[in-house]
Amino acid sequence: MEVCYQLPVLPLDRPVPKHVLSRRGAISFSSSSSLFGAPDPRQLSQMKAFLAFTCANIDSVCPKYTGDVRVRSQVGFEPERRISHPYLNIDFRTLHTRLDYGSTSESTAPERRVHRLLSFQRYLHSSRLLRGVPQQIPLHLLDEDYTGQARCMLEKVGNWNFDIFLFDRLTNGNSLISLTFHLLNQYGLVELFQLDMVKLWRFLVMVQEDYHSDNPYHNAIHAADVTQAMYCYMQEPMLAKSLTSCDIILGILAAATHDLDHPGVNQPFLIKTDHYLATLYRNTSVLENHHWKSAVGLLRETRLFSHLPAEDSLNMERELGSLILATDISRQNDYLSRFRRHLDQENLCLSNASHRHFILQMALKCADICNPCRPWELSKRWSEKVTEEFFQQGDIEKKHKLEVSPLYDREINTVGNIQIGFMTYVAEPLFAEWTRFSDTRLSQTMLGYMGLNKASWSGLQQEQASVSKEAELGSAGADTDGGAAARRDSVGATAAGGTSSKEIPQGSKES
Ligand SMILES: [Zn+2]
Repeated sequence: MEVCYQLPVLPLDRPVPKHVLSRRGAISFSSSSSLFGAPDPRQLSQMKAFLAFTCANIDSVCPKYTGDVRVRSQVGFEPERRISHPYLNIDFRTLHTRLDYGSTSESTAPERRVHRLLSFQRYLHSSRLLRGVPQQIPLHLLDEDYTGQARCMLEKVGNWNFDIFLFDRLTNGNSLISLTFHLLNQYGLVELFQLDMVKLWRFLVMVQEDYHSDNPYHNAIHAADVTQAMYCYMQEPMLAKSLTSCDIILGILAAATHDLDHPGVNQPFLIKTDHYLATLYRNTSVLENHHWKSAVGLLRETRLFSHLPAEDSLNMERELGSLILATDISRQNDYLSRFRRHLDQENLCLSNASHRHFILQMALKCADICNPCRPWELSKRWSEKVTEEFFQQGDIEKKHKLEVSPLYDREINTVGNIQIGFMTYVAEPLFAEWTRFSDTRLSQTMLGYMGLNKASWSGLQQEQASVSKEAELGSAGADTDGGAAARRDSVGATAAGGTSSKEIPQGSKES
């Protein structure tokens, strides 16, 4: 506390200066990878230790799964190629290995497939090591003024205005690790569950690394933001007085891992490009299943719960899955109807474990889509990020002559219209029911911000429409001068650095 107050306050928009990063050797972790086109496809084809679960059911995976790093280091097996869209080098991809356990005859002996998962992000790391490239350690110590301020922020981690972007800068891109570690400690869960600090730290580092930092939206900062929101909800009186330590650790871990290894494209995209994950999960909650299985993979690899009775850790994995699967937005109506039914009949009883679990599912759903309920500056930033991710997918779909998903075409959509639709049809109904369940100051604040944000987007939409109309009228007048004049205008505009038509997107973004 004392140290914090003595520190100079950094302006909100101050980035961590390069010289601070460089003298600590800080390098952005996954700047070298992108979903499509990089790395070189040849590099991908040489992957040797890149495996995934191939069972849709976690129970059937358990006995076969050898969750440690030994298998990962084995090389020399033939990849079994999956048919996928030829253009798409999706980050996570499977290769399979057949390992013969104690047998001399491959044809007659029982063969066991080993299914492992190594996300693309971590593949890049391990391949660098194999090539002798020095490891880029993602955790770095920053100067005291940064860490001091990050610590100060953590003291107000339950504040709804918590600026996760600033926190991410102050922790040098380690917001997810720092925040999750802090929350687990704050609740005393590390002690209570006798978690090994080294294993825990390793787990959290791997979780953060397995988020794709080049996704505009579905990256580790989103996971940290959801974890912070989840914490706020778990602090609400209705939950705080009834949640058990088990519920809380699951809530935190589910929030932190709920989008693990997200490829930055949606489920319909994976289905129409015949991605193996779509086949594996039978086109149902494809991404959510993958996030869950990825999280389980890391839990087992780090052996974080290996000291617990097997039944308990399996139970934790199942419940983690049930929470993560609830974030599938396509199943929103099922959850919402059930929530409404409970609220109408006033039969939610939080001493009942299954009811508590359901409320945790609803809390995680709210946390996942709470961007419209944040203060405008934060909310707007998230909106722009998620829209950019949509549009990037739309660009790929156009480029490869795939059907462009609705709302994903940058030519016909704007951030504002997507946001207004999302608030009206998805966020408002959910938060209205949440407020019925927990009518607190926080819930009212969230509804208040959502109303203000929606009005702001509507205002911007109208502004943009009127600017477009003016531009149209202007260009109609210019048409009478003929094509040469239009061309001249265009050239002049380029030289002058902008015309009214160029100002439209800029104006809409900045105001
Ligand atoms: Zn999410």
